[in-house]
Amino acid sequence: MADLLIGGKWVESGSGATRDCINPADGSVIRPVDEATPDDARAAVAAARTAFDDGAWSTSPVADRVAILYRIADLLERDKQEIARAETLDTGKTLAESEIDIDDVVAVFRYYGALAAVRSDRAVDVGDPAVISRVVAQPVGVCVLIAPWNYPLLQISWKVAPAIAAGCTMVLKPSEVTPLSTIALTRILEEAGVPDGVVNLVNGAGSDLGAALTDNPDVDLISFTGGLRTGTVIAESAAEHVSKVVVELGGKNPHIVFADACATDESFAASVDQVATGVFLHSGQVCSAGTRVIVEASIADRFVDALVDRARTVVMGPGLDPNSRTGPLVSQTQLDKMIDFVRLGVDEGAVLRTGGQQPDDPALGDGYFFLPTVFDRCDRTMSIVQTETFGPILTVERFDTEEQALTLGNDTQYGLAAGVRTADPARADRMARGLRHGTVWINDFGYYTPAAEWGGFGKSGNGRELGPSGLAEYQELKHIWNNTTAPAAGWFAP
Ligand code: NAD
Repeated sequence: MADLLIGGKWVESGSGATRDCINPADGSVIRPVDEATPDDARAAVAAARTAFDDGAWSTSPVADRVAILYRIADLLERDKQEIARAETLDTGKTLAESEIDIDDVVAVFRYYGALAAVRSDRAVDVGDPAVISRVVAQPVGVCVLIAPWNYPLLQISWKVAPAIAAGCTMVLKPSEVTPLSTIALTRILEEAGVPDGVVNLVNGAGSDLGAALTDNPDVDLISFTGGLRTGTVIAESAAEHVSKVVVELGGKNPHIVFADACATDESFAASVDQVATGVFLHSGQVCSAGTRVIVEASIADRFVDALVDRARTVVMGPGLDPNSRTGPLVSQTQLDKMIDFVRLGVDEGAVLRTGGQQPDDPALGDGYFFLPTVFDRCDRTMSIVQTETFGPILTVERFDTEEQALTLGNDTQYGLAAGVRTADPARADRMARGLRHGTVWINDFGYYTPAAEWGGFGKSGNGRELGPSGLAEYQELKHIWNNTTAPAAGWFAP
């Protein structure tokens, strides 16, 4: 099928190897995908290096790159249904979610089109009218862009769009579990007019290809989204070449519910609804999923009962079935992890209120489905409270005071996202300022916008995607000092 793009040519793997893409809803093979070798990966980096050093792209008029970004957005809209279907087959998420992802991706390409069009050079007043001093942003160079499987198209696009806006060249490495939408995107990039060699694509397992991409002197920047352990391996591997490394990692995200947010039946129901959606959407396979629920003790029992009822009503099924509200886990590996986490939670003394196993529905038997799970009576010392499960497992802790709520909300090695539900605006502001997380949602959960930065505190990462900072990651700043009088320095004058 030729699924690798290297130097403007679609090619098969150098070894002829392929890897089957699996539909997690029923375990069937969608299709085999060419699996790159380390030599293929090195060739892709070399092609990106040549395309960058050639200068035609990196110094191209910004208007050309803006036009390409808008064209990509248009083409994604044209192919939305086809790509959404591929994303759903590959990841298991519902078709409605895949469609939302593509709308978001379109918005990201348009956002960076608009941002790239704004010249960002900055004049600096050095106090001497003879000196023209300015700081200019230039493309960082060759970028390796590595994405995870939970939002395959979205995560790679958060990298590709600013990299194109900046004038970088790149090698894309989607997750080996979910490459299909990235292959479709790469074909669109080509069609939109991205020149040969500017975008290259290699598919395959990070454990096999990783070093060829990250321990490589031709690479200027690695932008990685994935797990904490992989992020540290990549950072170590890139250190010798001092390649820039931007990592967006995991989260264990608190969703804090104050009693005052549940004072009426309506606000109570809305809070239960938001908390359940925040963790069970996409079967919890969301880096910002609000899996750590922290509830004011005075309402906790009633709140947990309502959460359990809600968890039991979640309609699971294949993503292509319009009745499904959430799909399966992405793989047998993830399913096995959830089974282990449930065992661990029970061993640690948490009270399993619902879920904790696969659904007892023969129609879902071959898929990697796992029931929405609620653990009550958890505390901060438990591994299920501190470890990112990356599945539909919710833990409940209780608090009495705002101070305790804040302490628990910050009691994590991560710091990606947090939610707070309160009717008190002053408290909302205090909590938002005090929580050490990259995003804080007040009385809402899960939203982001291309114009606002996304990223984490602590071990959730070290950079930012989206917003102006998401573009800045792909730029080097250069200070140009131009003395128009060209004086002698005079320091060593005889
Ligand atoms: P992962 O770390 O296993 O893999 C991510 C990517 O890295 C894949 O493409 C994989 O092939 C590649 N990879 C693996 N080993 C590598 C190596 N040694 N060198 C180079 N590349 C390598 O993560 P995953 O299981 O695909 O994704 C789940 C994780 O992603 C979760 O921890 C989740 O929180 C995180 N995530 C974070 C964000 C965010 O915005 N912070 C968004 C989505 C997902």
